[in-house]
Amino acid sequence: MNLILMGLPGAGKGTQAEKICDKYNIPHISTGDMFRLSIKEGTALGMQAKSFMDQGALVPDEVTIGIVKERLSKDDCKNGFLLDGFPRTIAQAEALDQLLEELNESIHHVIDIEVPVEKLVERLTGRRVCPTCGTTYHVIFNPPEKDGVCDKDETPLIQRDDDTEETVKNRLKVNIEQTKPLLDFYDKKGCLVNIKGDQPIETVFDDIQAIIEK
Ligand code: AMP
Repeated sequence: MNLILMGLPGAGKGTQAEKICDKYNIPHISTGDMFRLSIKEGTALGMQAKSFMDQGALVPDEVTIGIVKERLSKDDCKNGFLLDGFPRTIAQAEALDQLLEELNESIHHVIDIEVPVEKLVERLTGRRVCPTCGTTYHVIFNPPEKDGVCDKDETPLIQRDDDTEETVKNRLKVNIEQTKPLLDFYDKKGCLVNIKGDQPIETVFDDIQAIIEK
């Protein structure tokens, strides 16, 4: 099963990716994770990617396409794969099509986890972090036992700068503009499926399984 998972920040993409890959025994291919690992390992690719990532910009297409090409040719992709964070541009989507054609493969489903923007703002701005031990909480969905302090060490919890309402709204706006052309691209091909993401985790996963097993 060859899948692409899409969804705005806060939509629960990471959680569902893990469940899908566990259940169907396919590798989770996240270009963001691959770049972060290369940076940690200090490879040439990492050095190349770092300057773009630090500015919040996209890594150039030829670099990104190159690493995906290499990754998809590995043996563990023979039974399928789940792409996460790729493609992010039309050039990447077209390159992926071409690459899959060469491998005699295709994308079976592009799964878009949809959550209304107001809900995403609520999810993302409600996050609180312990500055001492790094534990994260959510004021509504995962609150600490005692209001405003960490369960583990009682440090007062903080809100990260990039979790404030204004920053979150801006991040979502940029993301919506970036993903719209890709959703249209896969919709035209007939492989886009929309999954309602503002439901319990297991219900979202049930809906995804129903699509995969149809
Ligand atoms: P992510 O973890 O998916 O949010 O990715 C983190 C960063 O890695 C992005 O902000 C980009 O700088 C870079 N990146 C990840 N995937 C891609 C991609 N498909 N194309 C270009 N840059 C990417």
